[in-house]
Amino acid sequence: MPPPVFRFAPSPNGYLHLGHAYSALLNFDLARRTGGRFLLRIEDIDAIRCRPEFEAAIYEDLAWLGISWETPVRRQSEHFARYREAVEKLAGLGLIYPSFESRTEIARLVAQREASAPWPRDPDGAPLYPGLAKSLSPGERSRLIEQGMPYALRLDMAAARARANELTWIELGEGPDGETGVVSAQPESWGDVILARKETPTSYHLSVVVDDALQGVTDVVRGRDLFWSTSVHRLLQHLLGIPQPAYRHHLLMTDAAGQKLSKSTDATGLRELRGQGATAADIRRMVGLSESGP
Ligand code: GLU
Repeated sequence: MPPPVFRFAPSPNGYLHLGHAYSALLNFDLARRTGGRFLLRIEDIDAIRCRPEFEAAIYEDLAWLGISWETPVRRQSEHFARYREAVEKLAGLGLIYPSFESRTEIARLVAQREASAPWPRDPDGAPLYPGLAKSLSPGERSRLIEQGMPYALRLDMAAARARANELTWIELGEGPDGETGVVSAQPESWGDVILARKETPTSYHLSVVVDDALQGVTDVVRGRDLFWSTSVHRLLQHLLGIPQPAYRHHLLMTDAAGQKLSKSTDATGLRELRGQGATAADIRRMVGLSESGP
C-alpha cells in the first residue's frame, strides 16, 4: 500500500491564526502517525488578495510550529494552464456556459425574484445564480466575449448532475449536523457554480479538485466550513474522471464570543502570540492537541 498523502492548503491572503495552526498540525500529526506524506499547497489564485508577505509568513509560522513539508511547494498561480485544461474538458462535455452579469446586476435580479417568493440560497447562504445566461445563443455569447465583456464560466448544474448517479463521499470526521460515514453529495444545492472567470481561469472548487488528484492526496483534512463544498468537489471528480480522497472535516476554532476565527488578532494570531512569548507547545495546547504530537 502506498503511504497516505495529507495536505494543508492555505490561501496567502492574511496571517495564520489558531484555526490554521490546528488544521496544519492535525494534518501533520496524522501524516506522522500513519507513516504518510505531508504536503503544503499555496492556494493563491486570487491575485488581488494574495500577497508575497503573507506567503512568506506561512512558511515562517509553520516552521516555527515544528511542521516540515515536502518541496517544491505547489503554488496554484503557477498552474493556470492545468486548470484551463480541466475547464476545457468540461466545456467539451457541454457543461460550461459564460454568464455576463455584474455582482450588482445579480443582486438586482435576486431582489426582483425575492419580491414574490424566497430565492434559494447555497449552503454558505449566498443566493443561487438567478440569471438566464444559459439560454444565450452561441452567437450572442461570442459577440459579448468579443466586445470584451467580463464573464464567469459556470457549470450547468442540471446537465452535470444528470451525468452522475448517486454521488457520495467517505466522511471520517463530521459535518455540521453530525453527518459521518457515507455522505450523500448534494451539488445541486450550489446552483450553477462559477468554475473560472475571464481574469482568473480557475476557481477554488476547480483548482482544489485538480490539485488533490495531481498530487495524489488520499486524505483531505480541513475545516467544517468546507463540508458542503465537498458536494461540488465530488461532482467535479466524477466529471473529470479523477479519484476521490477520503474527507475528514474538523471543528473550527472560535473566539471568545464563539465566532469562527476569520483573521489573526492579538488573541489568536500566530505571529502575535509568538511576539507575546508563546511557544509552539503552547499553541498545540491552545488548539487542544497533545503537546508531544503523535
Ligand atoms: N484554501 C482553502 C482555505 O484557505 C482551503 C482549501 C481546502 O482545504 O480544501 O480556506
